[in-house]
Amino acid sequence: MSSFRKRALDEFASHKAERFYVENKPVSQYFGQYVFDIEKMRRHLSAEAFDAVQLAINEGVKIDRGIANQIASGMKSWAIEMGATHYTHWFHPLTDATAEKHEAFVDPAKSGGVFENFKGEALVQQEPDASSFPNGGLRNTFEARGYTAWDPSSPAFIMDQTLCIPTVFVAYTGESLDQKTPHLKSLQALDKAAVDICKMFDHKINRVNSMLGLEQEYFVVDEALYRARPDLMLCNRTLVGHIAAKDQQLEDHYFGAIPSRVMAYMKDFETEAYKLGVVLKTRHNEVAPNQFEFAPYYTEANLAVDHNLMMMILMRKVAKKHKLKVIFHEKPFAGINGSGKHCNWSMVTNTGVNLLSPGKTPRTNLQFLSFFASVIRAVYEHHHLLMAGVASLNNSHRLGGGEAPPAVMSVFIGTTLTSVLDSIEQMSIEDASAEISSLRLNIVNKIPEILPDNTDRNRTSPFAFTGNRFEFRAVGSSVNVASAMFILNSAVAQQLTRFKKLVDALVKSGTPKEDALIQIIRQYIQESKLIRFEGNGYSNEWREEAKARGLKGVSDVPEAFKVFLDEKSLKLMKETNVLTEREAEARYEVMNEIFIKKLQIEARVIGDLTINHIIPTAIKFQNSLIDNVLGLKELFGPEDYKEMSESQLATIKKISGYIKTLREDFRAMVEARKEANQLTSYPEKAAAYSNNILPYLSKIRTVVDKLEMLVDDELWPLPKYRELLFWR
Ligand code: ADP
Ligand code: MG
Repeated sequence: MSSFRKRALDEFASHKAERFYVENKPVSQYFGQYVFDIEKMRRHLSAEAFDAVQLAINEGVKIDRGIANQIASGMKSWAIEMGATHYTHWFHPLTDATAEKHEAFVDPAKSGGVFENFKGEALVQQEPDASSFPNGGLRNTFEARGYTAWDPSSPAFIMDQTLCIPTVFVAYTGESLDQKTPHLKSLQALDKAAVDICKMFDHKINRVNSMLGLEQEYFVVDEALYRARPDLMLCNRTLVGHIAAKDQQLEDHYFGAIPSRVMAYMKDFETEAYKLGVVLKTRHNEVAPNQFEFAPYYTEANLAVDHNLMMMILMRKVAKKHKLKVIFHEKPFAGINGSGKHCNWSMVTNTGVNLLSPGKTPRTNLQFLSFFASVIRAVYEHHHLLMAGVASLNNSHRLGGGEAPPAVMSVFIGTTLTSVLDSIEQMSIEDASAEISSLRLNIVNKIPEILPDNTDRNRTSPFAFTGNRFEFRAVGSSVNVASAMFILNSAVAQQLTRFKKLVDALVKSGTPKEDALIQIIRQYIQESKLIRFEGNGYSNEWREEAKARGLKGVSDVPEAFKVFLDEKSLKLMKETNVLTEREAEARYEVMNEIFIKKLQIEARVIGDLTINHIIPTAIKFQNSLIDNVLGLKELFGPEDYKEMSESQLATIKKISGYIKTLREDFRAMVEARKEANQLTSYPEKAAAYSNNILPYLSKIRTVVDKLEMLVDDELWPLPKYRELLFWR
């Protein structure tokens, strides 16, 4: 066997299930031990500092310098007690990764030796430079500085003996350079718009939080096999590889027994996650072989995103100990399911009411319907932008793949709520007499209590109502979901604000409040009808139907990005104060830039694989066939050998044909790249990459995969799908 592959397989066989992080005590005893949470603040902060942090967290009140010094000193004493030696501002640049630049606590003391230091300024703001992160031109001016600033709404934590302080990352001018800032702003916009409506129902409501529960899907592969695959190593996905004879058709992996090595790995990262205050709740096998999922208990959206990013770091780290690699890519393997990060999203008031939970009284039902209809209306209004917000090179291989949500948006609400919305739509509302009014409330009242458990589960919908929340399923597994959620939050905020205005106008002209609410709910139901779809989202009929309904999906990724700069989108972001036009433009640049760079790397890697691994292997195998034919000729003479070597001769010819095609495609792809690289504008270059280079990746793959089926297994250099995907 090719020594490369053989070594990897031997190493794989020697890897065993093992635990590295074991706590022999109840989780509640070590839960959150690495988090500077309320309990630790109480112990380490003065009453004054404690109150200031609480006000900052709950009401966004600014923290002054003096207090910041007190907080920093308390945080430092806790962190040092926990063994931390460094601190870092932890931020989320536009790359989907997280960034940190560590500073030691120690400073030289004048009298010799060192002392541990952490000032308020260092807590509140830093200038990490970090000029190499993509910024879409926001930092090309002479004042190109970037700052990180503390986000007190997400608690500091310790990882690898480093105190990590969650921060936003902004330019000198205040423009955002990260994912967190627009997300936080969108949460503010949503809070305000939602509270304005809630006040019509309950004066005690003064805060609405968006809640998120993120289901993270991921693959796990053996590290030795991973290292023997340049494509997995550099692109996090296989660019070539024939699908295994058995994949997921028997559906025997889904919810099956978790392989012991993976189980040990899961237990280890769960233990560490609990210490970081993440309430991991479920773990199971997913549909594809080697695919798994975890979901933490839902929490406030900003924290949920931070927790998810912490988990991704933690899972990579713990995987190393287990000689495993965790893969968050949206489509690491062809022919089997890809991975998503389902965003379970809801809104909860300070009084503890989930606004997406159907109520028990006509009044609370009216409140539920106001929010429910507004969300659907918002998703309809910005359906294209929402899909563009989850579009990426990675996700383009997953969406619409017959196993993942389609690349066009629709909303699924189930039969019960469909009939409720239908009856509201059909009722007469022109007559506003009291009797009819109460009749209307009766209809509203008829919404049976819907428990999350009895909602229909339509798994083919990109945006499904599941009883007390919406589940946005099109979001990719490798991304920072803030980039998708800020669009959803601002779209909903916009519709809620509009809803309130419309209701107020009716009330002003004499319509009773409840009637006004029902009228506008009805209007929203009518206006957004086209986005509702209860059927099979994977079917071809739906593709046609969606087109006929005028719904715009994502078929070409850079093309879809353009919707970010549509007037409608810019207006949305401006109105909700989430992004300025300049920031939206910058983000658009960055999305294109990342698309190009990823595709460029993939093109290089598949070129390298083809020229340096696959073609030489094919030639080796071809030579063995040639030797065989020549041997037969020598042995049996020029007459008899012919029939005996017929099939070998055909294979020799076939291989020559494949090699020729591969070389031609490789050369053409390089030429196309050279040409595209001449373009200086990112959007134009991204379009050229998408149109002229992307097609070669699948063309080359098809031929390589045919060769894999032809060439002697002993010679094949890359670990095969069956070896990568099935545990022994
Ligand atoms: P499923 O796979 O059936 O969709 P999971 O249990 O795997 O369900 O994940 C559901 C996720 O939704 C969990 O993170 C859960 O905490 C979260 N969730 C439950 N209720 C809400 C809610 N009201 N708002 C937001 N997220 C929620
Ligand atoms: Mg789910």
